[in-house]
Amino acid sequence: MINIAIDGPSGAGKSTVAKEIAKRLNITYLDTGAMYRAFGLKALNMGIDPNDVDGVLSFLYKTVLEIKYEGGVQHVYLDGEDVSTAIREHKVSKAASDISKIKQVRETLVKEQQRIAGSNDVVLDGRDITTKVLPNSKNKFFLTASSDVRAKRRYDELISKGQTVDYETVLKDVIDRDYNDSHRAESPLTRTEDSVYIDSSDMTIEEVVQTIISNLK
Ligand code: C5P
Repeated sequence: MINIAIDGPSGAGKSTVAKEIAKRLNITYLDTGAMYRAFGLKALNMGIDPNDVDGVLSFLYKTVLEIKYEGGVQHVYLDGEDVSTAIREHKVSKAASDISKIKQVRETLVKEQQRIAGSNDVVLDGRDITTKVLPNSKNKFFLTASSDVRAKRRYDELISKGQTVDYETVLKDVIDRDYNDSHRAESPLTRTEDSVYIDSSDMTIEEVVQTIISNLK
């Protein structure tokens, strides 16, 4: 069984790289951020502040979150509805970051991620994969890039999807979200000593993919 754990801040290229690795090694890719996004979206849809613990607990255990693979592509179903596109909206990023601070949300999702990783060859990306989800993985990576490069990538991605955003707003969100993700009490984003550190600021996707593949044990 192979388990590849990739952590890093938003916009570092984790999902692009992880998808490519999954394809080449013919293994499953699990985008754990999508799961936090789905819960963030649910809170927004219900008019509940994703920081409101009691509000979130009122729906957490009643929510049905399913990950399905259709033609090799991950789809996220929230209470039976495919929300794979909706969770990519800009406003959902912040909601995901906020809701991911709640301990019970993390416990629920980590358990599900460990279940999936326990029965499949997988590459997972997120913020707590190397520390909490797969602490015993032999293949840990910390993928990052400068905040400018990451904001530019996020900006290009949103624009290509037809969303209206300005670069300064995206940069501020990237910086705020980094702060949120690395300073929260529950499973903050940290680089473990046994993770291979990759700064992708001046690297192509192919170079990052090759670096990871050549480091696999
Ligand atoms: O990776 P992505 O940007 O889609 O993740 C959205 C948010 O979900 C992150 O900003 C982070 O707060 C949270 N997250 C997390 N743990 C993970 C994956 C994502 O806390 N494993």
